[in-house]
Amino acid sequence: MITVVGSINMDLAVETDIFPRQGETVQGKRFSTIPGGKGANQAVAAARLGSRVRMIGAVGNDSFGKELYDNLKNEKVDVSGVVTTTNSTGIANILLHNRDNRIIVIPGANYDLSKEIIDEHIHHILESQLVMMQLEIPVETIEHVLTICQEKHIPVLLNPAPAKNFRKEWMDQITYLTPNETECEFIFGADWETVLKEHPNKIIVTLGSEGAAFYDGKKIVRISGYKTDAVDTTGAGDTFNGAFAHAICSGNTIEEAVQFANIAASLSVEKFGAQGGMPKLDEVLARLG
Ligand code: ATP
Repeated sequence: MITVVGSINMDLAVETDIFPRQGETVQGKRFSTIPGGKGANQAVAAARLGSRVRMIGAVGNDSFGKELYDNLKNEKVDVSGVVTTTNSTGIANILLHNRDNRIIVIPGANYDLSKEIIDEHIHHILESQLVMMQLEIPVETIEHVLTICQEKHIPVLLNPAPAKNFRKEWMDQITYLTPNETECEFIFGADWETVLKEHPNKIIVTLGSEGAAFYDGKKIVRISGYKTDAVDTTGAGDTFNGAFAHAICSGNTIEEAVQFANIAASLSVEKFGAQGGMPKLDEVLARLG
């Protein structure tokens, strides 16, 4: 069982030809509501590949909350750790203008995910093969989960996004850290090759279409991305993380898990939407060859 402790959001996407100026009203092109949040996305990515996944998270007592809860259930994610709070469900308000975007995130109920809620669901954490987290929930909750996992020797995969919420003192409590190139350099203040060498078999840096890399204790292992025509890279990182977790829990080495995750993420960028393009296991195996 993989347990994801993380965010659940509704993405509200507005496509427009013109960005309104201050005080101006314009008519846009299209509006869509799309399930998102890094926690929920990574949970769905691993579940589609066949992992048993449980989510610990929080939604509001509103229609988005109900829709997101049902969406996770439909994706066969165990929602027994998803609580409903009095806050509004987390949203990301996304303005899309050609290739430009402007995003406002309201964490809402995600920031109600407290240490007390974790303690109420501690049995879920204790029976996990791996706990997966990102940084869209309160920092003290992340620290609490890290402490529990360290005491109980439960491996933790942490995807440090948004990077500004990361604390370097957590490194000893983390089994796998999966920053992208920008997050890696922001957190550690050095180029990624230097950073990897200081953390053998722990940091897996994702490099967009170039794939990903880690340091095996002797050399940097670079695993190329699968060349494809990307139509929407939203959620590529989330697919990579869910797939990496699935592969590690299936007994693969880091190198094998990265190969698998690169293929899964390459399939995800061929379709629109974060969860929309997340592949099933047979699609990944067919491309892996
Ligand atoms: P995002 O925030 O867009 O979800 P990210 O910035 O967290 O992604 P990236 O390093 O951009 O992470 O991408 C994650 C993984 O997705 C890469 O390691 C790679 O396997 C795959 N990937 C991303 N972009 C492409 C692409 N254009 N073609 C093929 N694979 C890609």
